[in-house]
Amino acid sequence: MALFIPDTFRGEVVRPEDSAYDELRQVVAGDVDKRPAVILRPVDAPDVAVAVAVARDSGLPLAVRCGGHSGAGHSAVDDGVVLDVRKLKTLEIDAEGKTAWAGAGLTAGEYTKAVGEHGLATGFGDTGSVGLGGITLAGGVGFLVRKYGMTIDNLLAAEVVTADGEILHVDETSHPELFWAIRGGGGNFGVVTKFQYRLHDVGEFVGGMLMLPATPEVITGAIEIASSAPEELSAIINVMTAPPAPFIPEEVRGKLVVMALLGYAGPPAEAEKVLAPLRALATPIMDSVRPMAYAEMFPPEDASYRPTAVGENMFVDTVDGSAVEAILKRLTESDAPMRVTQIRPLGGAMARVASDATAFAHRDAAYMVNLAAFYTSPADRIAKHEWITSFRDQLETGMPRAYVGFVADADNPERVRAAYPAATYDRLVAVKQQYDPANLFRLNQNIPA
Ligand SMILES: Cc1cc2nc3c(=O)[nH]c(=O)nc-3n(C[C@H](O)[C@H](O)[C@H](O)COP(=O)(O)OP(=O)(O)OC[C@H]3O[C@@H](n4cnc5c(N)ncnc54)[C@H](O)[C@@H]3O)c2cc1C
Repeated sequence: MALFIPDTFRGEVVRPEDSAYDELRQVVAGDVDKRPAVILRPVDAPDVAVAVAVARDSGLPLAVRCGGHSGAGHSAVDDGVVLDVRKLKTLEIDAEGKTAWAGAGLTAGEYTKAVGEHGLATGFGDTGSVGLGGITLAGGVGFLVRKYGMTIDNLLAAEVVTADGEILHVDETSHPELFWAIRGGGGNFGVVTKFQYRLHDVGEFVGGMLMLPATPEVITGAIEIASSAPEELSAIINVMTAPPAPFIPEEVRGKLVVMALLGYAGPPAEAEKVLAPLRALATPIMDSVRPMAYAEMFPPEDASYRPTAVGENMFVDTVDGSAVEAILKRLTESDAPMRVTQIRPLGGAMARVASDATAFAHRDAAYMVNLAAFYTSPADRIAKHEWITSFRDQLETGMPRAYVGFVADADNPERVRAAYPAATYDRLVAVKQQYDPANLFRLNQNIPA
């Protein structure tokens, strides 16, 4: 079928011959280099409905693109339609009522900066350039997760354009099953054009990076302290090769270190007490943890950074001494230019939400663990992929559990299944059958009807 774009489409139409094409087709993953037939950049929900119809009627594959961070490269497509939501940047803040309606094309950093001017915040992840679209639909685990829950726990409503072009207001009472599904079910059910979030007072905040030597005692100690700390503390403990960045002391670059990213949503005096045992684990190599505005957790980023890496993700209930030993052994033996094991202690507000309240259901997991390894060539990619999969198998305990936002394989139904308990998956299939039976929205961690 031919690609027909009606005059009713008011957004930008970008084709291969246009000067903006190369920049706009790019995503963050450095090994994704797809050439869509057209990039459609709608300006509002009715325009999104036209774009959805264009894709549906053309029969070409459709990719929905927001911040472009999909590790699987799902927001790019060869010879298909990219529906790029980045022009949807409206933001209505109700500072008194502590809610905000945000265009789905905003990034976490853009939103956080704007609401931060009112001393308010909604939690997203650890990276400002990640799009609201992708992270909210996946779930959202970041620096406020233990105190205020996941992003989806602060989602009050959304505007969704379905496969047949309907524009729906979706919340607990209007299309409740769809509202349940978009809170963790990814981009399977439609294009979200706006999200309504709850805002929290995060006037006082302490954050930054604490770098310590990567010894078994430090890693185990950091995990224990961060897990049992008050829920004001959300920590991301990276055991990794120190990057060759100018702010890293030269003598540690390329060496294994613990790089703990810390966020404390409370008064500085309290934070000092909670963080003291972490600082006492060893003489810090670097310590940039300080009182700051929450929005400073998202510093400016290099937009040209397009890493080539493989990644794995899992939820586990323990990271004990033998797991720490395995992590250090694996990371020491690897020849990857950068390799990381990231441990995120969970619990707190995230764990208090019932596991069937949202499509994200792994509420009881104690830790999220992410693995990443950079690679240097296509052959090296295969080697690193094998390495990282067997590393995951070594650490994963019990039933496999994954976070759909970090599943980096483009087509791995087993890991999609691991993202949901069986009953949750079946319920997602039923919602898919109702709202997208033809699987128009299939470039994602897909749940076929
Ligand atoms: C460097 C980095 C750091 C990260 N840190 C965190 C973190 O701390 N916490 C966390 O929870 N996650 C984190 N993630 C994972 C991230 O949340 C997911 O990869 C997310 O999908 C990226 O969203 P995006 O909009 O930037 O990406 P995109 O690639 O634009 O979108 C990803 C997918 O989301 C869907 N989608 C996006 N927008 C819409 C929309 N408006 N309507 C319907 N579907 C849509 C599409 O299926 C699309 O393929 C991180 C990822 C990276 C690369």
